Amino acid sequence: MRFNRQLASIKVYEGGKPIELVMREYGIAPENIIKLASNENPFGTSPKVIEAIKANVHTVHMYPDDSMIDLKTALAKKFDVETSNLIIGAGSDQVISFAVSAKANKHKKVLTARTTFAMYEIYARQVGAKVIKTASHQHNLDELYAKYKKDGDVGIIFLCLPNNPLGECLDKDDVFDFISRIDDNTMVVVDGAYQDFAAAKDPRKKIDPKALIETFPHTLYLGTFSKSYGLGGMRVGYGIAGEEIMQALYKMRPPFNVTTLSLKAAQAALEDETFVRKGIENNFEEMKKYEAFARKNKIDFIESYTNFITLLFGNDKNSSEIAQMLLKKGIIIRDLHSYGLNGIRITIGTPEQNTKFFEAMETVL
Ligand SMILES: *Cc1c(COP(=O)(O)O)cnc(C)c1O
Repeated sequence: MRFNRQLASIKVYEGGKPIELVMREYGIAPENIIKLASNENPFGTSPKVIEAIKANVHTVHMYPDDSMIDLKTALAKKFDVETSNLIIGAGSDQVISFAVSAKANKHKKVLTARTTFAMYEIYARQVGAKVIKTASHQHNLDELYAKYKKDGDVGIIFLCLPNNPLGECLDKDDVFDFISRIDDNTMVVVDGAYQDFAAAKDPRKKIDPKALIETFPHTLYLGTFSKSYGLGGMRVGYGIAGEEIMQALYKMRPPFNVTTLSLKAAQAALEDETFVRKGIENNFEEMKKYEAFARKNKIDFIESYTNFITLLFGNDKNSSEIAQMLLKKGIIIRDLHSYGLNGIRITIGTPEQNTKFFEAMETVL
């Protein structure tokens, strides 16, 4: 069978290996497997979320409230925007796909940093759009601007702030200055999947969605419940933008795209900011141990504003081999070989998980 031509160039997205797979492949008991591969919250989710899910289980025979007004109202309050500035997706991933479908095509390109969230490129290719990237792996605004000017016909620019899988983050002032130079027919997407981590570490990185969309009507801000809120399994994310962009995104949205239990879970998660704050505090406390470990073992790392850290190896080591050896010890991390980097990305875990990682890594090295 022949499929649409643009599919030929798409590489199927490979997420972090699930625990079930490692169990089967290596015969390791699930309680001895540590997954530090997908930037999930190592403390799980708030007990309030579990309660909310249980309390709503009896409603699953009914379609969800497609207006999603309760969650939108809670998010509108959090960000001081109108509910009409919000769209909810099955993960912010889905909102990315709406944006790409609305703005990119065979003639309108997608511009990103060289090494960033893989889904931007996959969605772009699905609609037959050309993806152009900077030469630098990390976000470099001068390079992004030069590409934007030189290549022309850019439909969307993705800024991942902070960036997955590398962890770096641009300053808010520089980002605003950059966006002010972008034509208002090009959508600039600010992916804030890890913004709460970055803002907690350094206020200069903090991007306020309200200020962003009010200053620049051609921007879309993205947030997710999958990382700091610990709801990766529920698939809830959101987009914040002005009226014009919202109208376009809603044309792409399938009905009932987020389940009732997911909506309730996200709403409950917003009510327990203490849980999120503690997770972020643990994250940066533990991150120091990773930095110390890297220095001690003479491994390069990228300063991270997220819940993961990226280690980069020299020629004497091979990231895929290291990932494989760790896997045999029941530790799942992300090999960055497929991004053209000899490095690994490790999600910061609980103190116990991190200790086990350091022990395993010592022997591997
Ligand atoms: C995790 C992540 C997302 C979205 O995750 P969802 O689970 O789809 O909400 C978006 N962007 C980046 C950079 C991420 O790391």
